[in-house]
Amino acid sequence: VSSAVVVGAGVFGASIAHRLAGDGWEVTLVERDEPGHDGASSGGESRLLRCVHGPDALYTRSARRARELWREIEREAGEPLLEACGVAWFARSEDGWVADAEGVLRAEGVRAERLDAAAAARLYPSLRADDLAFVLLEPDAGVLRAAPAVRALVRAAAARGARLVRGTATPSSDGPVVDGRVLESDVTVWACGPWLASLFGDVVSIRATSQDVLFFAPPGPGWTTADVPAWVDYDGAFYGHGDLDGRGLKACPDLEGGALDLDGPRVVSGGAQERARGLLAARFPAFAGASLKSARACGYELTPDTQFVVAPHPGLSATWLVGGGSGHGFKHGPALAEHVAELLSGASDPEPRFALGPRRADRGLRTAGHRSAI
Ligand SMILES: Cc1cc2nc3c(=O)[nH]c(=O)nc-3n(C[C@H](O)[C@H](O)[C@H](O)COP(=O)(O)OP(=O)(O)OC[C@H]3O[C@@H](n4cnc5c(N)ncnc54)[C@H](O)[C@@H]3O)c2cc1C
Repeated sequence: VSSAVVVGAGVFGASIAHRLAGDGWEVTLVERDEPGHDGASSGGESRLLRCVHGPDALYTRSARRARELWREIEREAGEPLLEACGVAWFARSEDGWVADAEGVLRAEGVRAERLDAAAAARLYPSLRADDLAFVLLEPDAGVLRAAPAVRALVRAAAARGARLVRGTATPSSDGPVVDGRVLESDVTVWACGPWLASLFGDVVSIRATSQDVLFFAPPGPGWTTADVPAWVDYDGAFYGHGDLDGRGLKACPDLEGGALDLDGPRVVSGGAQERARGLLAARFPAFAGASLKSARACGYELTPDTQFVVAPHPGLSATWLVGGGSGHGFKHGPALAEHVAELLSGASDPEPRFALGPRRADRGLRTAGHRSAI
């Protein structure tokens, strides 16, 4: 039997521990806090699951595979994790990122519907669509319950035999050290989210930014995830979804936030409420004057090109670094874990895009486009 230590129980580490334990590995999962805690990139209430990734087929396939795996994890966990409310992509031009994505979805056999402004307006109780060229509806996309999903993965990993260790690990040439003890294993995977930068900043390029997440009280009925699809305004760098579990309608400006103090409190930026309400009312006029229910900040762990990191550490033997979710990693967790399991068992080769080393600046895989915000 092979053994693995996985450090970090965010969505990546928890998915990897769950996967390896299921494949018969002896797994130790180390986490210094509660899995899915509010300071982690995987914390909080929800994340979008979508196959649209502009012109990119690799991430499209990964998201589709992940969706299948999330459904399996739901059955194993015995709790609902994915609300398949669909995602509507508001396209401001006939060509561009969303149009490219439509071509990929069709080529990959992922369901998608192109709606004109009049048909799109029927999706929401109130929608301004006169500035849109079209809306691409991904009916099988939706919203994952984030922290509950991480906790469900950790519980399922434990049920498969993974051992959980609470503590802070530091790297050494003999393996991760927790409370002065080396945790020995055949392989170590460091899946520490934004903290990868502080642990391995000499080999990995990850920047942590603080992103605002806001929830507004719906102005009337018809705004739950059961009623309306989640949405992404790619060119407007703005996304959200309907009321899930009574928390309110989620509205997130997706421009890059300021630098995050990793171990400090998560603080919402000044003016965030006014910005989000302005974006919301511009798209959904019924939300003009909507009242804020809650707001929080969450850390992105951005690689320069928004591609993930899945790579062997150049100086530590049998040690892998996994992260760089870059504001879009959550949904991929279980599929990425499947990829990692294949790598560790030698069944596949590392993906060159996930390698360490220099990368070209590009933010094309996030929900924030290159044009200006509304
Ligand atoms: C506001 C926001 C919105 C997002 N929206 C989406 C979305 O809609 N769809 C989507 O797919 N993705 C989205 N993402 C991205 C996604 O959530 C992240 O990419 C993903 O959760 C990263 O998971 P992770 O496991 O790499 O990191 P984390 O969740 O940060 O997990 C790392 C864990 O490692 C632990 N740790 C760190 N150092 C140590 C140590 N030395 N010893 C022990 N434990 C340690 C930490 O405590 C933490 O629990 C969003 C992210 C944010 C912040």
